[in-house]
Amino acid sequence: MLDADVTTLDRLGEQTTELLQLLIRNACVNDGTPDSGDETRSADLLADHLQGVGLDFVTHAPLPRRASLVARIEGTDPQAPTVCLMGHTDVVPVSPAGWQRDPFGGELVDGEVWGRGAIDMLNLTASMAVATRHLAATGWKPRGTLIYFAVADEEAGGHFGAEWLADNAYDDIKADYVLTESGGLAMRTPTGTHVTVTVAEKGIAWRRIRVRGTPGHGSMPFGTDNALVKAAEVVRRLHAYRPQARINDIWRAYAQAVDVDDDTRAALLDPARVYGACQAIAATSPGVARFAHACTHTTFSPNVVAGGVKTNVVPDTVDIDVDIRTLPGETAPDVADHLAAALGDMAATVEIVPIQDGLSSASPVTGELWDAVGRAVRRQYPDAGLVPRITAGGTDARFYRERGATAYGFGLYSPQVGPGDFASRFHGNDERVDVESLRMTTQLWLDVVTDLLG
Ligand SMILES: [Zn+2]
Repeated sequence: MLDADVTTLDRLGEQTTELLQLLIRNACVNDGTPDSGDETRSADLLADHLQGVGLDFVTHAPLPRRASLVARIEGTDPQAPTVCLMGHTDVVPVSPAGWQRDPFGGELVDGEVWGRGAIDMLNLTASMAVATRHLAATGWKPRGTLIYFAVADEEAGGHFGAEWLADNAYDDIKADYVLTESGGLAMRTPTGTHVTVTVAEKGIAWRRIRVRGTPGHGSMPFGTDNALVKAAEVVRRLHAYRPQARINDIWRAYAQAVDVDDDTRAALLDPARVYGACQAIAATSPGVARFAHACTHTTFSPNVVAGGVKTNVVPDTVDIDVDIRTLPGETAPDVADHLAAALGDMAATVEIVPIQDGLSSASPVTGELWDAVGRAVRRQYPDAGLVPRITAGGTDARFYRERGATAYGFGLYSPQVGPGDFASRFHGNDERVDVESLRMTTQLWLDVVTDLLG
């Protein structure tokens, strides 16, 4: 365990705050196109921060201006585990009109840092760098190896970031234990404080549904075979489809810990009642309802439609792109079964083309990393228990889990950040984080890493 004094921890928290402000101002906005992001600016910034304390680091850029940075403190014992602190440097675009402050100003106002990435996840990326630098600067000689991995392109699926490095330079980033986004919320309940650890994520099965019709003159629509009218019915059926709910162990553990009345809890754990419970919760807490629904169902969200050529031409082709997120254990044939059930007699009349697939991934909720995280949390939230959660979105953790590593989404937030704040700020307006959470997260990494690596 780390024995840094309070003054040192305050100073490190201030360094994290300053580094976060600089990362926000770099505005490494990833809009999904290969020449967006420009994460090289933040890789350079982090290299500047890390230099001068004897750290080894390398950068990898699969495309110009898309650099990821890997720094390491080599362990003395090859048998000891390797821990990777992985933070992405890119952020998603903003709609500035919805913000009260400059989304790329990195302003510190009333104890909060404002800006895109403040909670997803430049806060963690900054705190991980500060912790790594501090350990190197103090001459720490661990048994196991520590890797700091500042990675590009997470927000567009990791193709030019974690996926690329895992495929092409895995020796540089290989680790037994990985800590990345997105957990560490403290839930205060009558049964005590529970801190969330993201141990799993849902799978991706994006599909394009192509609906065909027959072209004709838009001035005489009677009886025409209009692909858009049929597509509307496809969308309606997808929206109405109710797949069977499934309660897995991760959801069971999470639902046991949340602050709800006993009847609601029982409903959340009953496959026959959980949908109704989500409807009831939605009236007061729509974000919580959405999360509960996503954790217990495979979901179907028709999000893009393309088709038609001209206002006076009956369209003969319409494509509907559907964001499908699968529960643990579901594979492509299960997705095909869901779509057949949802579309009914229309299933035979459409073409379904895969856009992207990725299986759900999970890490165990026991073991060395779980225990070390629990000890580190209790240094700041005495008596707190850990509660596992699954995330409905995708993170870079899956590239490690696929290779056998244990990967958790973590961090640590002050009581000031509630579940509603946390959820709404991810990719939302007025994203911000309080400096106390930045200090707590910086200490957390120091405690976990020194505990595990000695
Ligand atoms: Zn993120």
